Amino acid sequence: MNLFGQISMGIDAALGLFGRRKPVNVMVSITDNCCSRCNYCQIPDQGRPDLSTAQWKDLFSQMSEAGTRRIGVWGGEPLMRNDITELCAYARELGMYVSLDSNGYILPAKPEILTNIDHLVLAYDGPEKAHDSNREEGSHAKVTRAMETASGKVRLWTITVLTRHNMNHLDHIMETALKYGFQTTFQSLHHNEKLGGDTSGMMPSDEEYRNVYRKLLTLKNNGAPVANSTRYLKSLAKWPDYSTTRLTEKFHGVKCRAGKMYCNIDADGKVYPCSLLIGLYPSSLNALDTGFQKAFNNTLELPCQACTASCYTEYNYLYSLQPGVALQWNRAVRETDRMMKANQHSIKHVVPGESSGNQHS
Ligand code: SF4
Ligand code: SF4
Repeated sequence: MNLFGQISMGIDAALGLFGRRKPVNVMVSITDNCCSRCNYCQIPDQGRPDLSTAQWKDLFSQMSEAGTRRIGVWGGEPLMRNDITELCAYARELGMYVSLDSNGYILPAKPEILTNIDHLVLAYDGPEKAHDSNREEGSHAKVTRAMETASGKVRLWTITVLTRHNMNHLDHIMETALKYGFQTTFQSLHHNEKLGGDTSGMMPSDEEYRNVYRKLLTLKNNGAPVANSTRYLKSLAKWPDYSTTRLTEKFHGVKCRAGKMYCNIDADGKVYPCSLLIGLYPSSLNALDTGFQKAFNNTLELPCQACTASCYTEYNYLYSLQPGVALQWNRAVRETDRMMKANQHSIKHVVPGESSGNQHS
């Protein structure tokens, strides 16, 4: 996002604090379909038919009219859609910043997507055994090919779901980030009961989760490529019970801004305050029936005020104008651009396990 976009987002956030609601940021579950069957997810089992290209374009136009400046496209696997490049290009024509989440499987076959989005977030759960244990056999090889395809060509971040399989492999993840030129983000297991799969045997104990977040904080403070804010990492290290992902009361020091500054539109067109409430928010309206603005207007009543989700917690800080988080977010984006440029001509070869030169604990 350029300086003008950042200033506009800041003005939106300031007006939001004075009560103006605007869906500045919309997460778009663009399909249920997925080419993977990760152990902790049952989104693909929903199996609902995709909305058409024309329906999504119309919804994107309505979002733009409602004031949306950024969309985060996810699913399912967005690249399963044959029209995904066309849809992302359309959203950018409308002036929106487009971020896309992917498991990377199909990316080498669709490299054209990289010039039609602003930011790619790959699902990466660490070294081969850990990644494949979290997801499915062979998935590590596929996301590695995706990193090779995307490296140096787009702003690249990864999202790592922390489990017992990978919680002791943070150094490997940092070394891979330096090799391919990306910033990392981390997340505890948090799919809700409608979308989550079987996490038995994967869930770290509360103390193990606390230790991972403390270690991430140390790594970030020592200059490792961690995009999560220190405030989020500190707060998550104090989360009372990681098997409970949502709390009714404020926990992170700010109010939740879901339904005021951001929302999630599901693969069937229903609009929710956020993706954690998909299927758990009985009054959600379908934007195909009511129009996007009316469906967004209906997302104000929140059943919770804090959750473990990294993206939403960071949005809540940013839309509450927390200067430390905004500065760190800006720095992470600038560092991503620097790493991307450094990887445009060559890929550094770092053997996993060897020190890369950056300070790791
Ligand atoms: S976590 Fe993502 S990649 Fe894995 S099955 Fe669910 S939607 Fe597909
Ligand atoms: S705290 Fe906000 S973002 Fe988190 S689950 Fe509740 S409504 Fe969604």
